[in-house]
Amino acid sequence: MNWTGPVGSLFMATALATSASAQDNWSYSGSNGPNSWGSISSVCANGSMQSPIIMEGTEAVLLNRLETNYNVSPVDMKNDRRTIRFDYAPGSMLRVGDKTFELTGFHFHTPGEHRVMAQSFPMEIHFDHRAADGTQARVAVLVKEGSANMAAEELWPHLPIEPDQTSRRPDVKINARDFMPHSGTYYRYMGSETHPPCTEGVNWYIFKEPVEFSKEQIAVMNGIMGENARPLQPRNNRMILDALPN
Ligand SMILES: [Zn+2]
Repeated sequence: MNWTGPVGSLFMATALATSASAQDNWSYSGSNGPNSWGSISSVCANGSMQSPIIMEGTEAVLLNRLETNYNVSPVDMKNDRRTIRFDYAPGSMLRVGDKTFELTGFHFHTPGEHRVMAQSFPMEIHFDHRAADGTQARVAVLVKEGSANMAAEELWPHLPIEPDQTSRRPDVKINARDFMPHSGTYYRYMGSETHPPCTEGVNWYIFKEPVEFSKEQIAVMNGIMGENARPLQPRNNRMILDALPN
């Protein structure tokens, strides 16, 4: 009787690993690491507008404010082995000028992926948005070590720590805006998704003001995900706008 449990779980683990590798065989280290992503999607290796990049040599311009009109939402979390995804209920919008995007979710990277001149960050949060025509807008929040983030205090006890684990907590509600800085100044450039398929045409908005998380909060996220940052990519001829909001 005793051996059926372990053998059963071993079989399940093998089946899961096989189906996962057939679908998306990439990771952040080893033979499936970033240097091999071009074999999954050629734009990862050959694209000219890849992300992340360094924010430097920017052009100051007057740009529209990022207007976040987000709802308070219950959290729906999934550990997908590379990050923890927080899916957001429909109906939360980001407006930039006359363009409107819907927030679909957010996720974390440790360490941060973008850099601001010589400064790197221990963590970065990406907020994924999509317009009705499919255009992607990604808002990045850089995280530095400091005092504890109160929204994270509520969420962290419920994080799905095991690979492929999901965590649905209708009783724990958050507003994604609580992970963003107060100041609205940002950098803007055109880039890509920072993981396969590395799709280009992503509108990046990177808040200049970092937010603070405690050392422990950053360590918890890093302990679950490990290192999940793509190396810096060539800027090529792209402009980086330094937005002074109207
Ligand atoms: Zn990301």
